[in-house]
Amino acid sequence: MSTATPVLSARPLHRRTTAENSPQNEILTETARRQKQVLDRLQKALNDKNLVIIVGAGVTLSATADASGKPLPRTTWTGLVRNGLDYILEGDYLDASNRRIRRAYEALEDNDKAGLLDAANIMKDLLVQLRQYPTWLESVFGSLHQDVRHPAIFDVLKALHEKGAILLTTNYDDLLERFCNLRRIGRSNMDDILKFKCGDLDGVFHVHGSYQDPNEVVLDSVNYYQVMQSDEVQNILKTFLEFKTVLFVGCGSGLEDPNFDALLRWASERQKNISNRHCLLIRNGDTLNYSPLIRLKYGPDYQDLAPYLNTLLGDASQPATGAGNAPTSVSREYSNITERSVASIADLPKRPEREPLRFDFAGMNQLNSGTRLGNQTNLASSETSIPKEPARQALTHHDYTVGWICALAIEMAAAVGMLDKRHDSLPQDSRDHNSYVLGQIGPHNVAIACLPAGVPGVTPAARVASHMLSTFTSLRFGLMVGIGGGVSSQENDIRLGDVVVSQPTKSFGGVIQYDFGKTMQEGKLERTGMLNRPPDVLLRAVASLQARHMMEEPALSRYLSEMGSKYPRLASASTFPGTEHDRLFKAAYDHPATEVTCANCQSDQLITRTERGDNIPAIHYGLIASGNQLMRDGKTRERLRSELQILCFETEAAGLMDDFPCLVIRGICDYADSHESKQWQPYAAATAAAYAKELLNIISATQVVQTTAIHGGE
Ligand SMILES: [Zn+2]
Repeated sequence: MSTATPVLSARPLHRRTTAENSPQNEILTETARRQKQVLDRLQKALNDKNLVIIVGAGVTLSATADASGKPLPRTTWTGLVRNGLDYILEGDYLDASNRRIRRAYEALEDNDKAGLLDAANIMKDLLVQLRQYPTWLESVFGSLHQDVRHPAIFDVLKALHEKGAILLTTNYDDLLERFCNLRRIGRSNMDDILKFKCGDLDGVFHVHGSYQDPNEVVLDSVNYYQVMQSDEVQNILKTFLEFKTVLFVGCGSGLEDPNFDALLRWASERQKNISNRHCLLIRNGDTLNYSPLIRLKYGPDYQDLAPYLNTLLGDASQPATGAGNAPTSVSREYSNITERSVASIADLPKRPEREPLRFDFAGMNQLNSGTRLGNQTNLASSETSIPKEPARQALTHHDYTVGWICALAIEMAAAVGMLDKRHDSLPQDSRDHNSYVLGQIGPHNVAIACLPAGVPGVTPAARVASHMLSTFTSLRFGLMVGIGGGVSSQENDIRLGDVVVSQPTKSFGGVIQYDFGKTMQEGKLERTGMLNRPPDVLLRAVASLQARHMMEEPALSRYLSEMGSKYPRLASASTFPGTEHDRLFKAAYDHPATEVTCANCQSDQLITRTERGDNIPAIHYGLIASGNQLMRDGKTRERLRSELQILCFETEAAGLMDDFPCLVIRGICDYADSHESKQWQPYAAATAAAYAKELLNIISATQVVQTTAIHGGE
C-alpha cells in the first residue's frame, strides 16, 4: 500500500507547476489584488471609526453546534419554523390533525419561499393565539449560548468593536452582546436609538428585535411592515448607509428580506454616481449578489469567517486569505448546510436576484429585442408590431410613472379598454417575467401587468409588483384594479357593479390582511397585516374626486360606453347586467351545496332593498380586507363587517403591502357569500377600471413627477 501512494500524489503536483503562468492565474491575481484593495478600504474605515458591521444568522450558525458537532437545526430558517410547529404539537396545545398545523408542515415541505413564509405566518399566529410566543422564543434562544462551540468569531467582532466598529444584528439571539460584553439596544426606545446613532450609547442594536422583546421580533409580514414604517430604524440604517461603510457579516440571504432589500435599493439609487463601498462577506461558493454591495469571499467554509475578519484588525499573524486559500484546519462540518439561515424572514417572495437597478434600457434595446420578445406570450407583445401612435420620441421605461396591476384576464382587458392610447411595448430584462401593456391615460404613461393566468393570490401579486418595480424604476404609485366581494349593510348600501376604493382610517392604511386560514375555521378575525397608506398624491386625488362626485355625475358610465364602442367584444363588460340579477341573500342563508346556480335559492331569504333611480355605479370608500382565500361565507363576512367595517374582500392587495404603495380599486361582482355567480365579473372589472381612469384624469402630470419614485425611495 505504501508504495502506491507517492505515485498517486505526484501527478497533481506536477500539473500545478506547469499551470503557473496560465491566464487563469493572472485572473486570480487580479481578483486578489482587488479584494486586497477593498480590505484596505475597510481597514481604513475601521481606523477612522467609520465601520458599521451588521451581523446576520451566518454568525450564529457558524458559532454554534450540538454536542456531536452538528449544526443546530433551529438556527436555520426552516428549522426555526419547524421548531415552532413541533413546540405546539409536543406541548399538546393543538392536535396534529389541526388543519392549519397540517398546512404549515406541508408548506415547509414545499421548500420554496412562498411555502416557508406561509408556514412562518401560521406558526407565529398560532403561538400568539395560544399565548406561547414569548415562551417559545425563550425556549429557542434562551440557552443558545451554551451551544457556542466556536466562539472565535465573537472574539474578532469584539476586537473590531473595541477598535471602533459599530455593531448591529438582525439575529434574535443574544450571542453577540453576551460574548462581546455589550448591552442590547432594542427598537422600542427611541432615545436609545438616537443616542446609539450619534455614538453616545454603546451596545448591539437589534434591527429585527431580540427574543427578550417578543414584540420587537420581526418574524412575519406584519412585523416587516412595522419595521419598515419605523422612522427611527429607517433613519439610523439610512444614516449608516449614507455616511459610514457598512460590512454585512453572515447575512447572506437575509438581505432579501423586505427591510434590507428596500434599504439597499434606496442606497443603490442614491449612490449611483459614487463608487460602492459597502461590503458583503460571502463564502467562496456562494452566488449571492446584492447591488450595491461589494462581495468579499472569506473562504470555502463558515469557519473561515473569523480568521478572515481578523485581517481587518491588521494582525499580521493571521494572513489575509482572499479567495480560495483560507485556513482549512478548522472543522468542515458546516459545509453541507444548504438550508437558509434564520435571522429574519429572508424568504419573502422577491425577484430571484437583486440587480439590475440601473439598466441602460436604450442599450438593451438592441441587445435583447430579438431574444426577450420572442419569449413573451400574450397580448402584451402580440400586438406590438402595430404602432399605436405615430412614432415621435421613443418612450423608455423611465417615462412610465403609474403601475397598474390586475389579477384576471377580464380585468386586464378592462384596463386596456380604458387606455386613451396604446404604446409599443419595450424590451425587458429576462428576469422580469411580467407581460406588460403600455399606454396613456390623460397625461400619464401607465404600465399594466396581470398576474399569471389561474394563479391569483397575495404571493403572485407581490412577485408581479416586485418585477414591475425593477423594470419601471420611475413608477410613482400603483393601482390594484379588479373585482371583489362586496359587504353590503345599512350604512353602506353596496350593490353589484359599485366600486369600493381603499381609504386609510385612523388605524389602518386602507387594506387589512386577514387570513392564513384562521377566519374560515374559527370565524374570528385577528388582522394579520395592513397595506401601506397610499401616497398622498393619490389620497388628494381621491378627496377631489369625492368632492366632485357630490356635485357631478361620475364619468364612469361615459368611460364604459366609450370602451364598449371602441372594443365591441367588451360590450358585455360595458353593459349593466340588470338589477333583477343583483340578489343579496340573508347572511345566514347558505347556498345549497348541490345547486349550481341560485335559480332554486329561496326568494324569501332575499334582503329587500329599495330600487336605485339609475344604474350609475356608486363609489364607496373604506377598508378592504385582503387574504389568500376567497371569502365565501355570509356569516363570517358579517362578523368581519361588524368588527372592522370592511366594505370589500379581495385576494391580492396584501401582497403589495411591503413596497408597492398603491390604491386598491374593486368593482363589486358578488357579496362574498356562498351564492357565487360570475355573471357580474366583466361589468365589475370595467367599473373599477373606469374609476381608475377617472382618478388618473384628475391628477396632473406635475403632481405625479413631484411624487417620490417608489423604487428609489428618494
Ligand atoms: Zn344561491
